[in-house]
Amino acid sequence: MDAALSLYLHFPYCWSKCHYCAFNSIRYDKPQSLRFLSALKAEIVHCGRLPAVQGRRLSTIFMGGGTPSIFSADRILDVLDHCRGYFDFSDDIEITMEANPGTVDMKKLAALRRGGINRLSMGVQSFRDEELVALGRAHNSNVARDAYRAAREAGFENINLDFMYALQDQRLEDWAATLDKAIDLGPEHLSAYALTIEAGTRFGADHNNGLMVLPDEERQIRFDELTRTKLSATGYDQYEVSNYARPGYACRHNLGYWSQNDYLGLGPGAHSYFGGRRFSKIEDIEAYIENVASGGEAIEESEPIGPALAGREAVIFGLRKTAGIDLDEIRRRYPTPDPERLQTTFEQWSRDELVILDLPRVRLSPKGLRLWDRMAEELIAVP
Ligand code: SF4
Repeated sequence: MDAALSLYLHFPYCWSKCHYCAFNSIRYDKPQSLRFLSALKAEIVHCGRLPAVQGRRLSTIFMGGGTPSIFSADRILDVLDHCRGYFDFSDDIEITMEANPGTVDMKKLAALRRGGINRLSMGVQSFRDEELVALGRAHNSNVARDAYRAAREAGFENINLDFMYALQDQRLEDWAATLDKAIDLGPEHLSAYALTIEAGTRFGADHNNGLMVLPDEERQIRFDELTRTKLSATGYDQYEVSNYARPGYACRHNLGYWSQNDYLGLGPGAHSYFGGRRFSKIEDIEAYIENVASGGEAIEESEPIGPALAGREAVIFGLRKTAGIDLDEIRRRYPTPDPERLQTTFEQWSRDELVILDLPRVRLSPKGLRLWDRMAEELIAVP
């Protein structure tokens, strides 16, 4: 049996658009959503039959969006059954579904759990209602708490909660209060992202008009430190820049992304890294549906990943993991980046307290974890 494979399924509908959101999602439209589901299932059949997929087992499936949980349990499980029918599943497959509070109840969650979904990722974002309103979220904190409890009652034993911090006008104590409430609930996994302003979003327009001001760098650092300190003191390991888990509960699907494992992304705008290529599906939902319906593969962009680029990406994405990278292993697997230039870069970063060198292992310091984006830009230029 060849190396494991992951599958990402993109469900591009939400009840409304959050003010910060740049994901490929639109307001739910039932007639179109049914045609979308037919296209997605056709893609599953097509990909499951690809010769390059034969003999490979799916180790993880991630249903993301958008809001997959906007669909009924029957429709979601129908998609999952298609996956089961056309792909081999590993015995210990991790199957995650993203859910938004307000779109799930105990009965629906129990059906999804029985149908094989064994990890739930819930977009909570904050436990302060005024922050949820400011973010444009469609739920309040009570609805989020109820959804979490319903998931537990339904039998989910692996739950992630997503949060955002460093919001406009947010005080450190506000974020601390949300974190305390999250910790009290006791999820196995927590994702915590500092708010970033994306072009094309309502926040992006507000920012351009001077209506939105985020905390300055010094305050951002205090938010980051508070997050790390509180979560590590309560038994959550930071295993990636923005992800924390109880031992044994790191998200295997996302770890695959940062470890250069092959994955296929199906659905509008989904990305794949497979067979030495990176490619993405048509983003426009109607165009995606039409393309698949007429027998196409709905590919919008495709680029080969040569050994040089693969080596650079192994370093860049590998460093997102707090375990870091093994330079000897990178050198063994890839012809570039230039080992000496790379080492010189890391030695300088070590002096700047951005990385911790324990050669051949290199990992980011807390300061480096915060500045990963800027370091990635520098690394991509290493020949
Ligand atoms: S629920 Fe998620 S995908 Fe949907 S609009 Fe909000 S942030 Fe975007």
